[in-house]
Amino acid sequence: MRAVFRAALAALLIVVAGSLATAEPAPQADPAAASRTLRVATRVIPPLVIEDNGKLTGFSIELWNGIAERLKLATTLVTMPDVKSLLEAVRTGESDLAISAISITADREREFDFSLPMLDAGLQILVRGSDGGGTANPLEGILRLLLSPTLLVWLAIAAVLVIVPAHVIWFIERGHPEGIIPGKAYIPGIFHAIWWATSTLATQAEQMPRHWLARILAVLWMFVGVIFVAYYTAQLTASLTVQEIRGAISGPADLPGKKVATTRGSTAAAFVRKEKAQVIEFAQISDAYAALAAGTADAVVFDAPVLQHYAAHDGKGKVRVVGPVFRKEDYGIAFKPGNQLRREINAALLTMKEDGSYQALHDKWFKGD
Ligand code: GLU
Repeated sequence: MRAVFRAALAALLIVVAGSLATAEPAPQADPAAASRTLRVATRVIPPLVIEDNGKLTGFSIELWNGIAERLKLATTLVTMPDVKSLLEAVRTGESDLAISAISITADREREFDFSLPMLDAGLQILVRGSDGGGTANPLEGILRLLLSPTLLVWLAIAAVLVIVPAHVIWFIERGHPEGIIPGKAYIPGIFHAIWWATSTLATQAEQMPRHWLARILAVLWMFVGVIFVAYYTAQLTASLTVQEIRGAISGPADLPGKKVATTRGSTAAAFVRKEKAQVIEFAQISDAYAALAAGTADAVVFDAPVLQHYAAHDGKGKVRVVGPVFRKEDYGIAFKPGNQLRREINAALLTMKEDGSYQALHDKWFKGD
């Protein structure tokens, strides 16, 4: 009987000990407990995440450090190659959360929990050229027009419109004593006539022939001149505008058919594809900038804070942002659904907004962009 009792006691002890042992890690399963280091997935996208001599910094990293400090969380950062793998790491539990430049979208919201918005972003367009205006070099545009076949055609027409009336006027006017043609000889008389015809064509004639027939012709010719100049101006304006517009991108409406570089799996890539543009996807946004510089891409479509920062810093003088932010998006921290840590992180984020430290970070990374 005592043996049985002892065995039962031993069994009970084992069970109790066992349950204590399994109960022990329970608070650890809740990552809120500071006892364990959080694995935070991120990815390099300046100025949100910048890699500087192997050290990560940038707006998102400093924001995260601020949150982690307030919650006394120890973290290890793990970098991922693209946004899809960032989210995948959260899905599989390989990472506890992901923070970088992750846009909160309806599709992602179905699969993940997001923090409150940590930055308002949205899509914008980056093209080659400086802030100066249309073409990179306006002189180049004018030169191209001056050497174009269009101009040659107009010069030929102008030549005919000068030579023919010059001869008619020379013939009628040459005998007139106070006329515009001195003497009867072809030379130099014809040169005077050509000068007169040219200035009439440009509607700037100062002299008028004396002979009545020459005067009638002169008036008719002035009308021809007005029409010629009007047509010529119209065509010149049109060709200049076409040159300016051809290949130029000034908003999302100009994207169809263009070669657009962006990052792999991003919201921008999905947007550009829907716009029927040719998407060139890169892992790193820096490779998209390189494609734009090399001319393999006509534009980069990506998150506004990222493009604006690049245009104001490393890309200054080489690229410019065009058009408005045409699709609003917010950045958030991604969690596996049900992660208890989210509320605390949201509260820390709000505290940082309320105590001014968020604003200070925002100014540090985005002021002047
Ligand atoms: N905001 C973009 C997105 O979430 C960033 C993509 C990226 O990390 O390249 O889709």
